[in-house]
Amino acid sequence: TYVIALPCVDVKDKACVDECPVDCIYEGERTLYIQPDECIDCGACEPICPTEAIYYEDDLPAEWKVYEAVNAEFFTDL
Ligand code: SF4
Repeated sequence: TYVIALPCVDVKDKACVDECPVDCIYEGERTLYIQPDECIDCGACEPICPTEAIYYEDDLPAEWKVYEAVNAEFFTDL
């Protein structure tokens, strides 16, 4: 799955939302989140993000690895 990391916080540009073919990018209070079960790994959102906040899970920088769980947990709390 693709993951939205720290650079999105308090930015929420939302260019990715329009790009996602399955509408699996959701808005939280301070950042956007990708629903991991709905993401089809198409990669369309990654290059469009102006803050480079989106990574394929295996490509997350080590300091942002936690965002994989952060994205998933947003949906378990709903
Ligand atoms: Fe949506 Fe594709 Fe990005 Fe997954 S990789 S969030 S399906 S645009």
